[in-house]
Amino acid sequence: MSTYALDPRTTVLIGSITSGLMAMVLTLLARATPLPVPGLRTWVAGAWLVFAGLLLLGLRDWISHLATVTLGNGAFVLAYIAWLAGTRQHFGERLRWGPWLLAWLAMAGAVTWFAEVQPSYRVRLVVVAGLCCFISVHHALVLLRYPQAERFGRTLGITLTSSWLGILAIVYAARTVHAALFPQGDSGLLTQDAIQIIYTGSFTVCNLLLVIGFATMASDHVRARIEEQAVRDPLTGTLNRQALFECLERERSRHGRTGQPFCIAMLDVDHFKKINDGHGHPVGDRVLVHLCRRMAALVRPHDVVARYGGEEFVVVMPQTRLPEAALVAERILLEAVQVDRLAMPAFTVSIGLAESSTDDATAEAIVARADAALYQAKARGRNRLERAALRLVNA
Ligand code: GH3
Ligand code: MG
Ligand code: MG
Repeated sequence: MSTYALDPRTTVLIGSITSGLMAMVLTLLARATPLPVPGLRTWVAGAWLVFAGLLLLGLRDWISHLATVTLGNGAFVLAYIAWLAGTRQHFGERLRWGPWLLAWLAMAGAVTWFAEVQPSYRVRLVVVAGLCCFISVHHALVLLRYPQAERFGRTLGITLTSSWLGILAIVYAARTVHAALFPQGDSGLLTQDAIQIIYTGSFTVCNLLLVIGFATMASDHVRARIEEQAVRDPLTGTLNRQALFECLERERSRHGRTGQPFCIAMLDVDHFKKINDGHGHPVGDRVLVHLCRRMAALVRPHDVVARYGGEEFVVVMPQTRLPEAALVAERILLEAVQVDRLAMPAFTVSIGLAESSTDDATAEAIVARADAALYQAKARGRNRLERAALRLVNA
């Protein structure tokens, strides 16, 4: 019999130790994330289950069959199910545990039977590797299907994790087919042959890479949320003032390049102070949230709603001339203020509308013209729309 520098027990035990270390890293990451990451705790539980499973499998022949075969494989397969549940939670879904736990129980029953009653490593291998292959393929598909619904496209973490799952599925599929077609060594998992060493080596390395994949997905999530928070107003969820000016600069340069002007509507809630004074600030907040939701539904897909400050908002309408923008603004004037009178007080808004001009030297210049028109709307009785001149009289 040829000898190898590595034997399966060493591979599995080294895999167990490194899995334990990786589980520790993931645990520390879960404690240190500045924002909660959905699913991360379940991934952590899965990482510890891999550690326990590999440890029990590596102790084959030194501890009871029940401990190493049933518990070892049980912990290992449960880890894959937990990782799948973690991914589902990460995407805001719930795993339907029922069918997976049934599959897990059937696997545990089969490996116990084929260890204690009718010993056959070959059948155990087909059952365990086959189930692991199925879970890995399913998990990879869950990840690959998700980005279509994701606004930011496929992240590095999703790409890495689905790739490792794909490789893991191939390893398990190859091992299942080999075990189904050919007789296997007498020492089961610890058989000293090249196939067994490559098999144990591949799945332990893939498990480590998967933990790295989950850690990357967690950090992608935190980065995306922080980037989101940097540009969004926390109360209304619309873009904040800084993001508004970045948007205006982009539109200004597009106007310069293409000659197509854009419009902005500057909107202010009328007598908002009275709402706060009469009903309290929380009701005032609800009015602002309601107004933003209605505006988001009323504007066109490429229009942008931003909070300028307080109870003032700006709608940016790219590649739009004044008459068309006035239709959008009138819609807001009439429809964005409709409320369920039981939920909040009635309110109105005033709007100043301005079209971009190549005379505007800065983004502030067009905002100033819209603001002047808004001032006029207020002066002329509120609850109305005024159009700005293309140039401020005293500019
Ligand atoms: P006008 O019709 O002239 O615009 O009158 P107004 O009462 O709406 O304007 P004023 O500027 O006097 O008051 C605006 C109020 O908006 C004052 C401020 O406390 C309130 N406000 C600003 N931000 C918020 C917020 O986030 N939530 C709530 N509830 N109130 C806010
Ligand atoms: Mg105001
Ligand atoms: Mg106001």
